[in-house]
Amino acid sequence: MNWILLQAMLMANIAPPVELTGWVLDGTEPTHADNWLIEIAYGVIAAGTACENCGGPLGPVAVRSGHWPVKVVADCTGPERHRHRARVRYAGNGLLLEPLSAE
Ligand SMILES: [Zn+2]
Repeated sequence: MNWILLQAMLMANIAPPVELTGWVLDGTEPTHADNWLIEIAYGVIAAGTACENCGGPLGPVAVRSGHWPVKVVADCTGPERHRHRARVRYAGNGLLLEPLSAE
């Protein structure tokens, strides 16, 4: 069977609509549980991440939610407070977490 035909058949039967990247495009919003899980996960990630610019530890994580992708920010505790950002997307089978990266 032709790969393109198989992919088209799968796409026709998937609801909600899915982009070729696998990201769900149904306009759903992050739930309270999603936000809680993201905050916990990035709290652990930030604790193990050093600032890309000065090497200082990252401070507390702030989750800016409301729609996908959820935005996560954390400032380093160095004197210049370098901001680090990550986005979290929802794929039909789970959360896709980006690494915290300096601006
Ligand atoms: Zn820094």
